[in-house]
Amino acid sequence: MYHKHDVIIVGSGGAGLMAAMQLPHASVAVLSKVYPTRSHTGAAQGGVAAALGNQEEDHWKWHMYDTVKGGDYLVDQPAAEILTREAIDAVYELEHRGLPFNRTADGRIDQRRFGGHSRNFGEAPVRRSCYAADRTGHMILQTMYQNAIKNEVNFFNEFLALDLLINEDRVCGVVAIEIRTGEIHTFHAKAVLFATGGYGRAWRVTSNAFACMGDGMSIAYRRGIPLEDMEMYQFHPTGIYKVGVLLSEAARGEGGKLLNDKGEYFMERYMPTMKDLAPRDIVSRCIVQEIKEGRGIHGKDYVYLDVRHLGKKVIDEKLPDITDFARNYLGVEPITEPVPIHPTAHYAMGGIPTDIEGRVVTDAQWTPIPGFYAAGEVACVSVHGANRLGTNSLVDLIVFGRRAGKHMAKFIQENDHVPLPSQPEDFAREQISRLYTTTGGESASRIRSELQNEMIDKVFVERNEDGLHEALDSIDELQDAYKKVQLQDKGKRFNTELVEALELGFLLDCAEATIHGAMARKESRGAHFRLDYPKRDDANWLKHTLAYKGTKAHDVRLEYKDVILIDDPVFAPKERKY
Ligand SMILES: Cc1cc2nc3c(=O)[nH]c(=O)nc-3n(C[C@H](O)[C@H](O)[C@H](O)COP(=O)(O)OP(=O)(O)OC[C@H]3O[C@@H](n4cnc5c(N)ncnc54)[C@H](O)[C@@H]3O)c2cc1C
Repeated sequence: MYHKHDVIIVGSGGAGLMAAMQLPHASVAVLSKVYPTRSHTGAAQGGVAAALGNQEEDHWKWHMYDTVKGGDYLVDQPAAEILTREAIDAVYELEHRGLPFNRTADGRIDQRRFGGHSRNFGEAPVRRSCYAADRTGHMILQTMYQNAIKNEVNFFNEFLALDLLINEDRVCGVVAIEIRTGEIHTFHAKAVLFATGGYGRAWRVTSNAFACMGDGMSIAYRRGIPLEDMEMYQFHPTGIYKVGVLLSEAARGEGGKLLNDKGEYFMERYMPTMKDLAPRDIVSRCIVQEIKEGRGIHGKDYVYLDVRHLGKKVIDEKLPDITDFARNYLGVEPITEPVPIHPTAHYAMGGIPTDIEGRVVTDAQWTPIPGFYAAGEVACVSVHGANRLGTNSLVDLIVFGRRAGKHMAKFIQENDHVPLPSQPEDFAREQISRLYTTTGGESASRIRSELQNEMIDKVFVERNEDGLHEALDSIDELQDAYKKVQLQDKGKRFNTELVEALELGFLLDCAEATIHGAMARKESRGAHFRLDYPKRDDANWLKHTLAYKGTKAHDVRLEYKDVILIDDPVFAPKERKY
């Protein structure tokens, strides 16, 4: 079936919907493989950062400093300036659109502390996170969805995008499968935005929803667009033991602390100033260190998150959802018992490279591919560098989702549709028909769990050359095995086995690019910690990686792109001390 619109947005999380809201006069179609309000943005708990200064003095420049330093200086600094300056107005836009934030006594948006956010260039923690209890993302998504309905955005729910269409060097559409019927649809547009989120499902223990399979990254990568800084993957310190479900940093923002088997609040020893609110990469490494040195609880691979001293009232009012997670998943009562946690795969700092207008760029010279945009977790602007600060993702979605939306509004006025390439559906149809017809006997779920085990064992908080080599060999084998995946269910309607197999293909691509980046980057920076190269190396590695999919199987080519610094000594790379 053929559809024609001005703009196609793939993804209805915070980034996709924020962009859609900027296009009230255009014909916009939003595709989402899940029902829109099930997007992972709805799971965001802690808050959205903006230097409103409602609780105490704050400035966007302090926020920018924290973002650049938190990102271990791999951040493109002009983009971080935009993020932190425009955060303020973007949060007010959400407020005016109806988002029910928690309030101060005098009726302004309430703010709380979060990891790595400080006042006066690192002096002490600051209250910067705007929040709606511990369900900020849920409120954002509901508010935006209601606005999109009001603007008569065309939603194509439970449509899985499979391919990006390019003709005359311009992006001109996408091909998707309608999950309900199994039918293929071609969407023709002047501009396409990918807002498809992350790929946390590549790890066995993850905070991410089942839908976070790296679709958009892989679809672009298969069409020759590089993926930037994929080795920079964040592990959140406090995932529920074994399950990975997130206990937000808001728990530590409100005063929660990490405890080892000796009864010690160990972050005080590692990070005397920021303590439990040091950036996530550092806290995750400290937990791993405690476990390695035998101070995990009962000598096992977890420690405790302790919120008992906050008291029932604070816990019930400010942390209701996450404490319920502890009760439901572990049978632990956080008001009286500490909660078992360990690091969990959480957030992709890397992704599809874009400029500050959300335009996708294809090389180190920042060459855009006209008509193609990306925003949110799928994109790499890069404002998070080597490590994202808590609450800086939601703000990334709204600031750069908005910029991309506004830029597309201009682009579609100045440009017409280009014709579709001939046989636009061929590539997508091929992928599907191979899965229906193969008799290789391989199972997608076996490949997926092996991938997830390899990633958690060898491409986790700490990495080294041997482990990465082994992981890469395994992924190469799994890519070969993937070609033999055979479906049990040959039906067309709601074939979830087909959907999962297609998604597994995306996940494998993302894992491949991650490992190649991690092997190449022979230094430790932010979330990428190499036991064999434990120091940051600015002389050789103050640069982004760009991974291109090669033409032959297992072939990945890496190029490098400069990090953009601004001429201000405050932001010059220094050792990170907290
Ligand atoms: C548990 C949890 C808590 C978090 N808490 C916070 C927080 O407090 N503060 C903060 O700043 N950040 C937080 N984050 C991070 C942040 O929520 C995410 O990075 C962000 O919400 C991603 O938004 P997005 O719009 O890019 O994508 P998502 O919200 O993940 O949405 C992706 C969309 O793309 C669609 N999609 C994907 N692939 C396809 C396809 N092939 N075809 C069609 N549609 C497709 C999906 O259906 C979905 O609509 C948290 C993340 C998690 C997992």
